[in-house]
Amino acid sequence: MSKPDALTALGEMLGDRFSRSKSDLDLHGRNETYFPLLPPDAVVYPETTEEVAKIVRICAAHGVPLTGWGRGTSLEGHALALKGGISVDFSRMNRVLKVHPEDMDVVVQPGLTREELNRELRATGLFFPVDPGANASLGGMASTRASGTTAVRYGTMRENVLGLEVVLADGRVIRTGTRARKSAAGYDLTGLFVGAEGTLGLITELTLKLHGQPEAISAAVCAFDEIGPAVDTVIQTIQLGIPMARIEFVDAATAAAFNSYAGAEMPEKPHLMIEFHGSASAVAEQAESFGQIVADNGGDGFSWSSRPEDRTALWTMRHNAYYACLGLRPGATALVTDMCVPISRLAEAVEETRADIARSSIPGPILGHVGDGNFHAILLVEPGNEAELAEAKALSHRMVERALRLGGTVTGEHGIGMGKLGYMEEEHGQAWDVMGEIKRALDPSALMNPGKMVPGN
Ligand SMILES: Cc1cc2nc3c(=O)[nH]c(=O)nc-3n(C[C@H](O)[C@H](O)[C@H](O)COP(=O)(O)OP(=O)(O)OC[C@H]3O[C@@H](n4cnc5c(N)ncnc54)[C@H](O)[C@@H]3O)c2cc1C
Repeated sequence: MSKPDALTALGEMLGDRFSRSKSDLDLHGRNETYFPLLPPDAVVYPETTEEVAKIVRICAAHGVPLTGWGRGTSLEGHALALKGGISVDFSRMNRVLKVHPEDMDVVVQPGLTREELNRELRATGLFFPVDPGANASLGGMASTRASGTTAVRYGTMRENVLGLEVVLADGRVIRTGTRARKSAAGYDLTGLFVGAEGTLGLITELTLKLHGQPEAISAAVCAFDEIGPAVDTVIQTIQLGIPMARIEFVDAATAAAFNSYAGAEMPEKPHLMIEFHGSASAVAEQAESFGQIVADNGGDGFSWSSRPEDRTALWTMRHNAYYACLGLRPGATALVTDMCVPISRLAEAVEETRADIARSSIPGPILGHVGDGNFHAILLVEPGNEAELAEAKALSHRMVERALRLGGTVTGEHGIGMGKLGYMEEEHGQAWDVMGEIKRALDPSALMNPGKMVPGN
């Protein structure tokens, strides 16, 4: 049992789809945010479930760790091979296997990205709504239980994955779920693997729910003098049951970032960006009700657009917010926080966070999917400046404590990876030990993305 023997066997099996080139190792050792380079020992590019199962069996026989790699867009070092071993890159498993328009579902391979899927679906009148901004892979999105701008209307990956095919740590291939919209048959294994960050097995196929493209879409931006009234507008809109498809908050610093990065002409104030989906009359009615709430809260500069090009420009700008914010401090890297609280505590969560960041020396624009009570501060630090990183981590730590104090979670959508592992016990208590027991039952040798998610892994 040895790593060199495993590497030799994998090389013989996969030929040029096995790589130990420095560029490949570095590419798969890099994270979007502040984590240091952690290259794996090798990268493999399987094309079928059978190949994934063989790769896992070879690694299991030699005690070599495996870490899945979708598009590497996760923000907490999830896909880094912390204990070395093999990075399993799913980019060649990127096919749509079967669309069932009449049942509004689709079967896909895990390396397909959400944008590729929606391009393939265009002619069907259906779409896949989960939108984490980055063009992530669907296997990676399932593994991090991703969500994003549209979760307030369509749910997260948890609500949109019907079933999975998974290769377990011993090479067995199992199926979870069915194409039925509901089932009361046994433990919810689909729910277990969604959000497991590749620590329980490798996903090789997903069955996903689709949604009908709305007849009418209307989007708008409005500005507020202070954060409080903007957040109150969101809370009142939700409490009145107005069904928005997206409602995003950006603070004054993020508006300034949009102006310099995307040539927007936004007043440097807090803003809401909103979108409604539905029939033409429903969308008009919702827009009117929302406009009234905005006016009651002193919002201004409010105008609707149903022109596709305006909406595309608006959401492209929002999707590029991370890079726009990085541009506020050229050369900076980021620590991205991810608080999520019950909606009634959102105003104090945002306000306390803003005041805390203002007292620090770290620039930290705030933005988020406020309809879910979820927001981020993008803490901009100079690469290699340990004092700044420590200050940013202290801010992030206080945000986590604030989230828990207000009845929320340490991560609404980005996940645990390496950055949030230290908070699992505080959030889950003894339930975290149970997660460890599940891990040991499915992966007793701790080969699947080791060092992540559970105690002592
Ligand atoms: C600019 C920007 C904005 C973002 N905004 C959001 C947002 O709004 N909402 C949000 O939820 N996220 C957001 N993210 C984070 C990111 O897009 C998600 O975490 C995404 O879901 C990860 O997908 P990926 O394909 O890049 O996976 P990777 O980063 O490659 O992997 C993520 C995790 O999944 C595991 N994995 C990957 N594929 C498999 C597989 N087939 N089987 C088992 N395990 C696997 C990896 O080992 C790793 O643990 C953002 C990221 C960026 C860069």
